[in-house]
This record gives sequence, structure tokens and C-alpha cells, in this order.
Amino acid sequence: MKRVVVKVGTAVLTQNNEIAKVRMLNLVTLIAKLRTRYKVILVTSGAVAAGYSTLKLDKRKQIGKRALAAAGQPILMTAYKNKFDIYDIPTAQILLTEDDFDSGKRVTMFQEIIDAHLDNGILPIINENDISSTPEQLFGDNDQLSANVAHATGAELLVILSDIDGYYDKNPQENKDAKIYKIINEIPQDLLFDESTPNNEFATGGIVTKLKAADFLIKKGLKMFLCNGFDLSAAESYLLQDKHTLGTIFEVKK
Ligand code: ADP
Repeated sequence: MKRVVVKVGTAVLTQNNEIAKVRMLNLVTLIAKLRTRYKVILVTSGAVAAGYSTLKLDKRKQIGKRALAAAGQPILMTAYKNKFDIYDIPTAQILLTEDDFDSGKRVTMFQEIIDAHLDNGILPIINENDISSTPEQLFGDNDQLSANVAHATGAELLVILSDIDGYYDKNPQENKDAKIYKIINEIPQDLLFDESTPNNEFATGGIVTKLKAADFLIKKGLKMFLCNGFDLSAAESYLLQDKHTLGTIFEVKK
């Protein structure tokens, strides 16, 4: 079975500083279906926002953000566990930082853990470990973390579920006439230095970090699919019916 990494962002997972339960359940249902065809690894954001539901700290401050992440990670994982239990899918939590990808020894260690999970039908759920790491050790967003996870675990495809239908020629939230790209074969390198443009107060990425993730994967010969995480029908058609309806595919020109 092919491996696929699914990354879900804060915009999809949270609403009004709480976990968006119905959207999470829809995601869990999609993953249950995907597991008939793929070995799935989930990369999830949402811990800081989940923490905010019990602890009102300033998330713009380093210490506030860490304290929120520490309080929110178990809330997030419990919410996932309750939903994956419906489908009898056991889960495991893996927290990684950028440093984990620097040493071959550490990469091998988490590769082996993830292999063991996938071989035994367990769904690895990965998040960035912003609790005990220094800012230099952090990717700072799960887009790049998930691209690195896809590469390190031998996945062919990274699916990024966000609050937009794909990648547009300009920000669709601000420009009604923005046009979506269906396929991108190369990322113009100057775009990778733009400022980040997250749409949600808890989000850290914006489109720039998604383009960085795509650029990394294209250069490794791997594929990325950016699509809507509110309405999962584009993800479902692409992954389960091999039909590209909406969403942007990033891949090397065939
Ligand atoms: P997530 O939490 O899913 O990672 P982000 O808010 O970090 O979401 O990133 C998605 C946001 O990026 C969109 O809602 C949109 O406002 C913004 N964006 C800026 N430029 C573009 C673009 N050219 N195409 C698509 N989205 C864009």
C-alpha cells in the first residue's frame, strides 16, 4: 500500500477558539476511508487553540504559546481518540521538531517507530513539539514539518487540508477574481521569501509555508495536493476515485 501524509491546519480544526468537532469527525471519517487504500500518517495542528479553551494566555508570547500547546495537546489527542474509536482505529502521538530531521540517527529512530505503527494498523498522529524546543529547533508551522515527514517516511503524496480550495494567483480571501491553479510544476523561487499570510489568528503558515513545502517535495520528486478541509469532496475524489475535481496538484512535470 502507498503511504500518504495528510496535514490539517488550524483553520480547519478550530472555530471560536475551540476544536471544530464536526469538521474533525469528517476528517476522521475520510481517514478511515483512505485506510482501505493507503497507509495514512496524520500531521495535525490545533494544540494551541485547543489549549485556549481551558487556559486564557497570550498566545503571541513564547511562554503563553508553549503553555497553551502543553495544555492543548492532550485535549486535541483525546478529541481525535474519541472519534477514531468509532472506526476502531488505534492512534499514536508523535511530537517532532526540526532537529529530529538533522541527524540520520534520529530520523532512523522515528522512521522505525512510524513503520512499526503502520505495520500494525496504528495511525501515527504527528505534531510539532513546541513545548520543550527552542525557536531555532522549530519549523514553526506544520506545512514544512509534514513535507519533511512525507519525505522521511517514504510517502508519495502529502495532502494539505486548508480553508481554501487550492493555490490561487492571488489571495482569494481578499480578491474575488482570484483564479485557482490546477497543477503547478515549479514554484517561482522569489515567492518563497514573501511574508507569511495566515488567515486565522492561531495559524502560523499562510500560503508561503505551503509553497515552501511544495517546493521541497517537488525537488525530491514527490507530490503535494492542496485542497479544502471544510468540504472534503475534492480530497475524496482525488484520493479515492482518482479524479481531480478541485484542489491544486504540485508535482514535477511528467
Ligand atoms: P492553515 O491553518 O490551513 O495552514 P493558513 O491560514 O495558514 O491555513 O493558510 C491559508 C490561507 O492562505 C488562506 O486562507 C488565504 O487567506 C491565504 N492565502 C494567501 N495567498 C494565497 C493564495 N495565493 N492562494 C491561496 N491562499 C492564499
